[in-house]
Amino acid sequence: RLKEIEGHVKFENIVFEYEAGRPALKNINLEAQAGQSIALVGHTGSGKSTIINLLCRFYDPVQGRVLIDGQDIRDVTLESLRSQVSIVLQDTFIFSGSIRDNIRYGRLDATDEEVELAAQAVNAHEFIKLLPDGYDTQVEERGNVLSMGERQLLSFARALLADPRVLILDEATASIDTETELKIQEALKTLLFGRTSFIIAHRLSTIRHADKIVVLDHGVVMEEGNHDEL
Ligand code: ATP
Ligand code: MG
Repeated sequence: RLKEIEGHVKFENIVFEYEAGRPALKNINLEAQAGQSIALVGHTGSGKSTIINLLCRFYDPVQGRVLIDGQDIRDVTLESLRSQVSIVLQDTFIFSGSIRDNIRYGRLDATDEEVELAAQAVNAHEFIKLLPDGYDTQVEERGNVLSMGERQLLSFARALLADPRVLILDEATASIDTETELKIQEALKTLLFGRTSFIIAHRLSTIRHADKIVVLDHGVVMEEGNHDEL
């Protein structure tokens, strides 16, 4: 069981294939110190999502190991892994229910106050307050009460409340107005603080702020370094 982990993540000699004979990851060695943010970049099909899939244990590697604080993630329960590793997907998952329930997802014990504090910390409180019923406003899975930017902020509030040690973020590509963009940047900083993060980054600002940029190409790491080095 993973308990009170630091958040050191290591991909060790990882080989993975979805279909026999067509490796999606060829020999990946990748390390994130606890608290570091890693931006994964590369062309479509280069293996970014696959790396994330392995870290979430949606799949297991064919060869090699994924370690968190030195422990193979295959040796911990999924429940324990899920409590320490959270993912914020590009297609931000909203379910039918209130805004409050949507933020509380993953932390059902959170009080109303905790929900609002999390929303405030990521600049979501402002827009939620303007909704007809505030935090009690009902939203639908495929509804359009919320803009893409607002959905993103909502998912940040959810992630902040869940407070995982390792955060995975598949950044939205949708074009977002400048004002919201700035809010998201600020919120991201708050959300990433003190956590290890892997970000499939699309925004230049996110890439620039990452501690390490990993450039993938056809399942191998082509380059690795920070923004100044690359
Ligand atoms: P994108 O930027 O388009 O999201 P990516 O870098 O995330 O690309 P991956 O999704 O990791 O790329 O794909 C890596 C390789 O694995 C590609 O060759 C892709 O076709 C293949 N692949 C991905 N998912 C599957 C799957 N479920 N079944 C079979 N092959 C897959
Ligand atoms: Mg992908």
